[in-house]
Amino acid sequence: MPEGDTVFRTAAILRDALLGKTLTRCDIRVPRYATVDLTGERVDDVLSRGKHLFIRVGPATIHSHLKMDGSWRISPRGVPDHKIRILLQAGRITAVGIDLGVLEILDRQTDMETVAHLGPDLLGEDWDPQQAAANLAADPDRPLAQALLDQRNLAGIGNVYSNELCFLFGRLPTSPVSALTDPERTVSRARDMLWANRSRHARTTTGNTRTGQELWVYGRGGQPCRRCATPIQRSREAAERVSFWCPSCQR
Ligand SMILES: [Zn+2]
Repeated sequence: MPEGDTVFRTAAILRDALLGKTLTRCDIRVPRYATVDLTGERVDDVLSRGKHLFIRVGPATIHSHLKMDGSWRISPRGVPDHKIRILLQAGRITAVGIDLGVLEILDRQTDMETVAHLGPDLLGEDWDPQQAAANLAADPDRPLAQALLDQRNLAGIGNVYSNELCFLFGRLPTSPVSALTDPERTVSRARDMLWANRSRHARTTTGNTRTGQELWVYGRGGQPCRRCATPIQRSREAAERVSFWCPSCQR
């Protein structure tokens, strides 16, 4: 599932491929922007803010959000045509945005307004653990998993990290935020996890990159806890909100 680390890495890949290049083709397959053509404009910035991705091209900014299934790739090879939402070509380089949850073209001058509501970006240069911890603590009764997922508190955590962090701090996803003894330590740990994964293709929170060993609880319903062997529990919610926890390690 795309989370802040995925978006950070995607921005780095697109930056490497497109920065400083002039678009020779721009094909936006979203009805609202179908007439927008940035051909002839230069790509002069690619950046991520939380889970949002921005490609600045001349006077415009291409803003995308991957949501559950979206991705960007350099090379359309093997991608079914109907899944491509945007295609950008610069000479021999072709970047395609696939199944993007959000795709819009913004005025470059005001493009950051769309992320002005976000809390501190876990992978941003201006990451501020004190502010992020204060944002979390401001609503002490809120369920922890929900508070960690709220991008207004801190930006970049998705459902995988939210579940993993609850496990690491020995709290249930439904425990109130006030159950954390040191919110700043929690958000700093979150930052370290995303930072360690920002350039990895296969995300790990256990430190083990071997297939099937990467995560503590997420996606492991029914399997034994890595610490105490108790079967991991799974909630019944839809994929983007499903919770996993160890009933013995998390209280
Ligand atoms: Zn356990």
